[in-house]
Amino acid sequence: MKIMKFGGTSVGKPERMFQVRDLITRDNEPKIVVLSALSGTTNALVAIGDALAAGDKDKAKNAIDVLHAHYGVFINALLEKDAMREKAVACINEHFEFLNIILKISFNEALNKDILAQGELMSTKLFSYYLEEKGQDHVLLPALDFMAIDANDEPQVLAIRAKLLKALESHSGKPIYITQGYICRNAKGEVDNLKRGGSDYSASLIAAAVSASVCEIWTDIDGMHNNDPRVVGTTRPIEQLSFDEAAELAYFGAKILHPASIWPAQHFNIPVKLLNTMEPEAKGTIILKEPDGNGVKAVAAKDGIVMVKIKSSRMLLAYGFLRKIFEVFEKYKTSIDMITTSEVAVSVTIDNTLNLDQISKELQPLGELEVLADQTIVSVVGNKLTQQDQLVTRMFDSLAGVPVNMVSYGGSLHNVSILVPTSFKNETLKVLNKGLFGLD
Ligand code: ASP
Ligand code: MG
Repeated sequence: MKIMKFGGTSVGKPERMFQVRDLITRDNEPKIVVLSALSGTTNALVAIGDALAAGDKDKAKNAIDVLHAHYGVFINALLEKDAMREKAVACINEHFEFLNIILKISFNEALNKDILAQGELMSTKLFSYYLEEKGQDHVLLPALDFMAIDANDEPQVLAIRAKLLKALESHSGKPIYITQGYICRNAKGEVDNLKRGGSDYSASLIAAAVSASVCEIWTDIDGMHNNDPRVVGTTRPIEQLSFDEAAELAYFGAKILHPASIWPAQHFNIPVKLLNTMEPEAKGTIILKEPDGNGVKAVAAKDGIVMVKIKSSRMLLAYGFLRKIFEVFEKYKTSIDMITTSEVAVSVTIDNTLNLDQISKELQPLGELEVLADQTIVSVVGNKLTQQDQLVTRMFDSLAGVPVNMVSYGGSLHNVSILVPTSFKNETLKVLNKGLFGLD
């Protein structure tokens, strides 16, 4: 069994869905195909939820109508036969009727989750109608029957496995199973989701649950690249990464893969492939247990970082100082990304600034506080980085002229990170592209 996940742009146009059909029928291995919502849909559903939360029903109604019209056009281009089109229109109308009913009742967070689920529910149904029209044997497995999170919002692979195997058993022998990414049920049995971009996570959880031969993530770029193609002139795809390297890259800004989607594949040792729907023959990136050698693989950047520096002469030779600092962050459920210490100061970075005011207030008694916003973490990722002779020299030679606010080296074998003002991010990525990879 293999897993093939297609993101929003890979199903966002009827002709893309035609391509997806080609890709899932190229071999005879049974597969579970995980689909995102059509590109733009989840954003539109978020906007509808936001409008309702703000009490602006007219705005919500307007957005619902615009989205509804989009699906009408989509169906006409996707399906040929009148009878099939009618079936699809009737199905989509039901989903929009549901959205229109929500307009009339009082809005709450659980309903918002129901709204957000409509995108994947519709994309999978449309794709299923299309396969049916083409006579392709398949079955639609509702993710809400097996994908689940516990009371801490954490998915548990073994619980998912038990439910999924049951669902598969009742349709055994099918060549293709279609299911929704992103959506799940929570511990209360309500419709919920795995957060934005969570379809990758669904795919990885499903792959782990069925011990898949491979988890293929199909997007619109040919794998993970060594740098951000939107910023630097030349990048190249990385052929192979270890799970550890991929986790660092996904976490530190490589948008291609949801960071949480690494652990299920890693824990159950399922190879993950990142492939390009527009260029199916391109190699892409394969993520495996072992790295294919040592050294630098890629550079990635994560924006929206705030640095908090606490300086105190009382820290000198004192114990328990760090604990006091960490306790404040823990109290406000704010995780720390980078940390550096000197004998009299500690600097940490956070990306969740929701409780920054409270945190600052409680840190104040511990020392002199400095808060720097608009920072970016630039991470150099690879294997056994601290054992690379010239790495630090090459990095810092390249960085002449860039104001580096923090350096984190040695925390992991896979990552050397620096903190720079976001206004210097592009320059940093460019000079490192040249200095570490010899690329422009
Ligand atoms: N449709 C969801 C989103 O846009 C999940 C996903 O595409 O991964 O966030
Ligand atoms: Mg995605």
